[in-house]
Amino acid sequence: MSNHQNILKSSLTYLKGVGPNRAELLKTELRIFTYEDLLYHYPFRYVDKTQFHKIGNLRPDSETVQLKGILRRLTNEGSGRGKRLVGRLRDETGAIELVWFKGAQWIEKALTVGMEYVVFGKINNFRGKLSLPHPEMEAVSVANTKQAATFAPVYSSTDKLNNSGLDTKARRKMMVHLFGQITPEDLPENLPDYLVKKFKFPSRFLATRQIHFPKSQAELDLATKRLKFEELFLLQLRLLQLKGRRKNSILGYSFKTIGEHFNNFYNNKLPFELTGAQKRVIKEIRKDMGMGIQMNRLLQGDVGSGKTIVGLMCMLIALDNGFQACMMAPTEILAQQHYTALQEYLEDSPLKVGFLSGSIKGKKRKALLAELEAGDIHILVGTHALIEDWVIFKNLGLTITDEQHRFGVAQRAKLWMKSKPYPPHVLVMTATPIPRTLAMTLYGDLDISVIDELPPGRKEIKTIHQTENNRLRMIGFMKQEIEKGRQIYVVYPLIEESATLDLLNLEEGFESLSRDFPIDKGYQISVVHGRMKAKDKDFEMQRFVRGETQIMVATTVIEVGVNVPNASVMVIENTERFGLSQLHQLRGRVGRGADQSYCILMSSFKLSKEAKFRIETMVRTNNGFDISEADLKLRGPGNIEGTQQSGILDFKIANLAQDGKILQVAREIANRILEDDPKLEKPHHLPLKTYLETHGKKIKLWSRIS
Ligand code: ADP
Ligand code: MG
Repeated sequence: MSNHQNILKSSLTYLKGVGPNRAELLKTELRIFTYEDLLYHYPFRYVDKTQFHKIGNLRPDSETVQLKGILRRLTNEGSGRGKRLVGRLRDETGAIELVWFKGAQWIEKALTVGMEYVVFGKINNFRGKLSLPHPEMEAVSVANTKQAATFAPVYSSTDKLNNSGLDTKARRKMMVHLFGQITPEDLPENLPDYLVKKFKFPSRFLATRQIHFPKSQAELDLATKRLKFEELFLLQLRLLQLKGRRKNSILGYSFKTIGEHFNNFYNNKLPFELTGAQKRVIKEIRKDMGMGIQMNRLLQGDVGSGKTIVGLMCMLIALDNGFQACMMAPTEILAQQHYTALQEYLEDSPLKVGFLSGSIKGKKRKALLAELEAGDIHILVGTHALIEDWVIFKNLGLTITDEQHRFGVAQRAKLWMKSKPYPPHVLVMTATPIPRTLAMTLYGDLDISVIDELPPGRKEIKTIHQTENNRLRMIGFMKQEIEKGRQIYVVYPLIEESATLDLLNLEEGFESLSRDFPIDKGYQISVVHGRMKAKDKDFEMQRFVRGETQIMVATTVIEVGVNVPNASVMVIENTERFGLSQLHQLRGRVGRGADQSYCILMSSFKLSKEAKFRIETMVRTNNGFDISEADLKLRGPGNIEGTQQSGILDFKIANLAQDGKILQVAREIANRILEDDPKLEKPHHLPLKTYLETHGKKIKLWSRIS
């Protein structure tokens, strides 16, 4: 058995036909080091060698086709930029042109006129004349080797690999050699027998072989399903196991009392009725903090759903039980704003709120830290300065992290250390919703609360897409709104690499707005951008908050959390350069008061397909949960903001944008299994236990690090 375990760990140099040079290339180009890596590098598509289109029957709309025919001609045509290699493929029904604009030299060498080829490509239709640009070509003699006779795998590759003879054909041969060397014992079953039977799955070994060399579409489908399920299920099992273990072993403070602070606030100060969702979530959190086990909870809610007040009320519970609490925000502006809001809410109470950021220095900081350590400050609000070692609490009971995805992993880890004997309870609030599948995975070991309801009386924000030739009309519209007493944001993108250019954009925009809205007509404009000193930013921000300026020109520093209910128009410049979640966050800055609000998306006339989709999504819906799903489909799980740091989404085959249903089933089954057999001690769970013990430790977990 132990020999068998080891063979998968063998270096690729030991595989027939690989050798040191090729092994090195596979290492550097695709990070394939061992047999195992190669095995798990699944094909990204297949060529069905059994089905061929007849050239005579091709229609302009038959997109991707596979043909079999004889290469009749191969000539270089055209000159300069129009230079191309042109071939002619003929079968018994007709002929079609093959065209290469790039790599002609290489291709010309590789092909032989008069040979029979399997040709795969996408049809191009130019004024009724069909051709195949850059088709894949494989000589029939090669295609008919035993394993590749039916469904041939196609592997992702790079130019460097292709040019060194490590193309998809060579990779297929390597796979054939690999399967010649391993046996079912090398890939022992890791799912319980009853699940394999229930879903009629192939065994782990079979599925792995079939994913590389399927004999039919049906076989491929089932192998794919099994491997996706396996991957998602084992991860969920691991996450849920850790969640369960944490709940059994990481003790925490038990907040038994709902006392004076909470009740006083609830009865006398709360300026509005809580929504049903807010009430439910507070109940969930309260229960969680009263069990003597450390809470680790994610609070999801759309922009404007009222997460801050929920955070405050949870902090009051901590305070009622004699503990301190803190709230950390990703930017100075946002932290300031939380601080101001909390101070107002707690005005006539004996509770003291402190503020800490990098800009609080010297004596002021010293005094603050002394008060904090003495327990005279009850709630500390601030930026990531909060996590510094020199920030010492008397007794920290609850930490709230607002808009958490902005914080690095290591930053958050430090909050755990700020309390003894138990770690503080942890509440993490998201800026915008994350798709269900992502939440289930990325935060799969946390408890999740969702605020799925907006406060009543909000009018749906009207979102309008405009291009440059409508700018004058937009200025007119802005004037109208200002006339009504409303305020307006105008936001410019600021993306690091081109920060200087972007700043120029913003400055030009500001100047042009200053001409349209001159001071002598009573207009005032604030400017805020990331390169300003914190003090100046704050000054400008405060002028806008107090209503002294009607327009706020800003970069995305205002994206997160800023709350000025009187602002009713959000103009976004260069919309095509923003991501969906950013756009949604920005739009969420308006629609916070009782007035009809507007979001105007300015863009250039010509848009990429993706930018168009983003803008259409924004115009179509105001719902952050919908938008996050659309974003996931568009960009894939790896590119959603805040997910990159965690290796947890590096799936071999599962895809969270597509496999939501499988994930749901996998999680339900994992849950049921752990309820019935938390330690996986029953004999029929032995395969799971064995597998998790040897493979389950690579996952980075968020609860550990928040
Ligand atoms: P977010 O969830 O985006 O952080 P906030 O906490 O900033 O949202 O709340 C947005 C606005 O809604 C604030 O002005 C807040 O005072 C207000 N608000 C919160 N809860 C309610 C409620 N139940 N009824 C009315 N207004 C509310
Ligand atoms: Mg907020």
